[in-house]
Amino acid sequence: MTTHRYIRANSVERALNIIGDRWSLLILRDSFLGVRRFQDWQRRLAIPRQRLADRLKKLVAHRVLRKVRYVEKPPRYEYRLTAMGRDLYTVALMIRRWEDRWLTDRRQRWVWLFHSTCGRHMDPRCVCGRCGAEVIATQTRFEDGPGAGRERAPGRVQRRSEASPMGAANPQFFIELATEVLADRWTYMVIGCAFLGIRRFDAMRRELAIATNILADRLSRLVDDGLLKRLPARDRAGVYDYVLTEKGKDFFPVVVALMTWGDRWLAGDKGPPLILYHQPCGRRLVPRFVCDRCGGDLRPQEVSYRLVVAHQAPIAAGAGPIATPDGIEADRH
Ligand SMILES: [Zn+2]
Ligand SMILES: [Zn+2]
Repeated sequence: MTTHRYIRANSVERALNIIGDRWSLLILRDSFLGVRRFQDWQRRLAIPRQRLADRLKKLVAHRVLRKVRYVEKPPRYEYRLTAMGRDLYTVALMIRRWEDRWLTDRRQRWVWLFHSTCGRHMDPRCVCGRCGAEVIATQTRFEDGPGAGRERAPGRVQRRSEASPMGAANPQFFIELATEVLADRWTYMVIGCAFLGIRRFDAMRRELAIATNILADRLSRLVDDGLLKRLPARDRAGVYDYVLTEKGKDFFPVVVALMTWGDRWLAGDKGPPLILYHQPCGRRLVPRFVCDRCGGDLRPQEVSYRLVVAHQAPIAAGAGPIATPDGIEADRH
C-alpha cells in the first residue's frame, strides 16, 4: 500500500507542479523569447525529443501553452503561450532580476532590460500595489486564506539527478541557480519553510514530512549556495537555526510572483491558501511588478532587452521585445 505525504496547501507548490522542472522552465523561457516550434526548442536546448514532447504535452494539458495548427497541409503545429502562460512573465522577470543581482560575479554577459513606455534602462521591481513600497521578505506576514488546509503532495518528487541541460542556448537569460532552486522540489520546499519562518531542522522535517538525509542534503546545498546560513540556536546548545541570508531573502519576489500566479490560476473555488500582508501599510499584499524608473507595470510587449558583454558597450540599440502576445522572435545576438 502506498502512503502519501500531506503538505500545507500552497499556490507556489501548485505552480511548481506545472512549471517547476528544469526543462519546463527553459521551454517557457524560450517561449518568452518567441520560440514556438518543436524543432526550435530541440535545437536551442539540445533536449531529447521524447522529453520535449512530454513537457509540451504537460504544459498544454495545464493550459500554459496551446497547440495551434499553422499549416493545414501537411499539418504543422506550433505552441503559443495562453493568457495563463503569458501571465508567467512576472515570474520570468523576477527570476532574471534575482540572477542579475546575485550572480553577476560569474558572468561575462548579462541582459539589460528597457521599458519602452519610459524609454529607460530599468530593473524590474516587486512593489506593494497599495502603498508602492518595495516588497521585502522581512516586511510581510502571512495568514491562512480561505483555501488553507493540507493536501496530498505529488507522488513523485523530481530527483536532482535528472539530466541537466547546462550549456543550453542563451544561458545568460535566466537559468542557473534560480532554476536549480525551483527545479528541485525539495530545495524549493526547504527555502519555502525559511520564508514561513521555520528555522529548525526538526520543525522543517515535520512540516515537509521529508526524510532526514534529504533535508540535510538540501540544507547544506542552500548554505553552500549562499541562500541560507547556519547559526547556533540561542536557546539550546548543540542546535542550529537555518536563516535566510540577504541573497536568500531577496529571492522572495520570485516566490511572490509564483504565488500570485498560482492564486490567480490554480486556487479554484476555495480561494488562496495563504494570504500575505504588507506590514509597512498593514494591508493585504497585492503585488505589482513595475519598472524601477517610472513605476509603470511591466508588460511583455513593452519590455525589450539588450545583451551586454563585459568591457563593451551595449550591443546594438533597438533590440526587440522579449516577447509579445504573439511571440515575435526577438532573440538577437
Ligand atoms: Zn504596502
Ligand atoms: Zn519605465
